[in-house]
Amino acid sequence: MKTYRIAVVRGDGIGPEVIASSLEILARARQVVTGFDIELIESPAGAVTYLEQGVALPASTLSACRAADAILLGACGLPDVRYPDGTEIIPQVTLRIELDLYAGIRPAKRREGAPGPLAGDPAIDFVVVRENTEGIFASLGGGIVLGDQLATDTQVITRRGTERIVHSAFRLARHRKRARPRVTCVDKSNILRSFAFFRKVFDEVALQYPDVAADHLYVDAAAMELVRRPEQFDVLVTENLLGDILSDLGAGLIGGLGVAPSADLGDRHAVFQPCHGTAPDLIGKGVANPLAAILSVVMMLDHLADTHGDPAPAAAARRIDQAVMATLASGEARTADLGGKATTRTATAAILHAIG
Ligand code: ATP
Repeated sequence: MKTYRIAVVRGDGIGPEVIASSLEILARARQVVTGFDIELIESPAGAVTYLEQGVALPASTLSACRAADAILLGACGLPDVRYPDGTEIIPQVTLRIELDLYAGIRPAKRREGAPGPLAGDPAIDFVVVRENTEGIFASLGGGIVLGDQLATDTQVITRRGTERIVHSAFRLARHRKRARPRVTCVDKSNILRSFAFFRKVFDEVALQYPDVAADHLYVDAAAMELVRRPEQFDVLVTENLLGDILSDLGAGLIGGLGVAPSADLGDRHAVFQPCHGTAPDLIGKGVANPLAAILSVVMMLDHLADTHGDPAPAAAARRIDQAVMATLASGEARTADLGGKATTRTATAAILHAIG
């Protein structure tokens, strides 16, 4: 029986509250589905860790993350806690760079009971695959402001970076096994050379996946189509900043940040975290929606199953996913952000009960 080592970073703000819920759910699913075990390695990071230890991502946490089979990450950072130069505490970004987590996987799947803003209740189930390591974000800290008159940041698109993210998108589309798998390249190649290059590399890689349809949209048209007919999409692959924006649009379509999980994947490491931040307005009130964290655990279990060829974690993932679906539909897991009355505690208890 395989024991999976999970590095757990609880983070700041509502991070510890929702991660605690997701760990309760994980423990229950592990009891119900036998055939695998979990070892948790508590690994501090974030604003509170910075205040306590003088460092936001301690070396011991980084090495625990490197050694783990997967990393479960709560949101990090607090508005009032900053480095002396005024910048934010963002160990999650450091982790992304250190572990070369180049593929941001941001699913947008609508579940009954999580009200989205669109009329007609479209069956939304797409994934934004966001390139995490380059694009305009490659300029982080390196932009130039000239004479208080002009500012520049430079977009970086490399062949290697584009090939590997596009391969991730096509592999994911194959894995999702939709009736007509499709990957849509989202860019602004009509305006910028760097995006035209991204699209060219996309087209080259697409030839290696003749079983998956490949098409393109400019980002402005993609934003409109995602609102007009989101059900048409399967996998979208795009540059870092565009992916950042479109994945939040996706979260908005399925009920908001409280139900949006994510994964950041590299070739050797994988981080799973809710899309939301530390939500300082909700700290300690017991009302944070735990579903994004719980669904991140579902993604983590599926990833462990895939990478280790082990059906047991996938069975646990299905158990949790079904329990989330059932309790959302019944209203028991519907917190205030979804228009319901559940608290973090009662939503978690309902899901635990539904798992069995
Ligand atoms: P960050 O900059 O850290 O990503 P943000 O400024 O985007 O954070 P979040 O902390 O993600 O903001 O949250 C924005 C708002 O959304 C919160 O203030 C909160 O009201 C709501 N929110 C976020 N996550 C949740 C959640 N899990 N449950 C309920 N509401 C949430």
